[in-house]
Amino acid sequence: MNTNLKLGWIGLGNMGNPMVRNLLKAGFKVAVYNRTKDKETPLIEAGAIPATSPQELMENCDVIVTMLSNDAAVKEVFESKSGLLSKNNSEKIIINMSTVSPETSRYLAMISKKHQIGFIDAPVSGSVKPAQEGTLVIIVGGNPETFDLVKPIFNVLGKISIYVGVAGVASSAKLAINYLLGLHLQGLAETILFAENNGVSKENMLSIVNEGACANGISKIKSTSILNDSFPAAFALKHLVKDLKLAKDAGLDAPLANPLLESYSKALNEGLGEDDVMAIIKSLKGI
Ligand code: NAP
Repeated sequence: MNTNLKLGWIGLGNMGNPMVRNLLKAGFKVAVYNRTKDKETPLIEAGAIPATSPQELMENCDVIVTMLSNDAAVKEVFESKSGLLSKNNSEKIIINMSTVSPETSRYLAMISKKHQIGFIDAPVSGSVKPAQEGTLVIIVGGNPETFDLVKPIFNVLGKISIYVGVAGVASSAKLAINYLLGLHLQGLAETILFAENNGVSKENMLSIVNEGACANGISKIKSTSILNDSFPAAFALKHLVKDLKLAKDAGLDAPLANPLLESYSKALNEGLGEDDVMAIIKSLKGI
């Protein structure tokens, strides 16, 4: 594996932190930048090099990855005064792994190209556990030759990289899979509450789900938090609301799309945005 590429990483939240750890373990040199500095400390202790700005990463690294909250954060990191595109640094590659709109991905590809910088759109499916285990599903858009150059990075972070087309298409695919995620979790929460209201314990109902044909990866992952009634964020509920809104803006017009967005938005307005997305069950229960 080519670990000679010097990597820069921006965004050390729930996802960025374990992803950088895996790259360090695999032998990559990784420089890191996070807006809130104390999140850099554990990774510096694990061998990462601190950077004072996105611009500094751009100057010193071959490939820079962004893993940030939303469209506004990514655009700010690209375009601010000390941002990725603030100086001439042609021939570098930027990979955006944050979930953003297809429109933003196309825009980022366009402004990168103007600076002669390669751009790859690579959102991921899978939450903190797959990020820790290096088993994310990486959805890739952009120039296929640029993808080949950065594939060694994806081989560490995920179990598969699926190339889907030009920049923007990967973001569309990511919004589609998160629509399904929202449906699954809403369905699971409604099912458990309906059963409980009719005398079936959540323990028994989760066993019926998880031992039968309706089981899936996410029902198994979220069972512990439902049983313990505890929802520390792996995937914050606010991020799913963002993604459902982006999907709507990108043209999602399906019978369940609007009620789903309304349900998660209600949970957000009730103060559950920083909790895990499975906290939708608290909102449905009346908190
Ligand atoms: P997170 O824990 O909320 O972390 C967000 C990161 O973005 C933090 O490093 C934060 O910096 C940074 N940030 C936010 N606004 C910024 C700004 N204006 N300038 C600079 N940095 C800024 O999010 P996450 O769970 O890691 O998710 C990251 C992305 O991956 C999101 O797009 C999310 O939708 C997507 N995603 C998440 C999951 C998941 O399960 N968590 C799964 C797949 C995809 P601070 O530390 O300073 O706040």
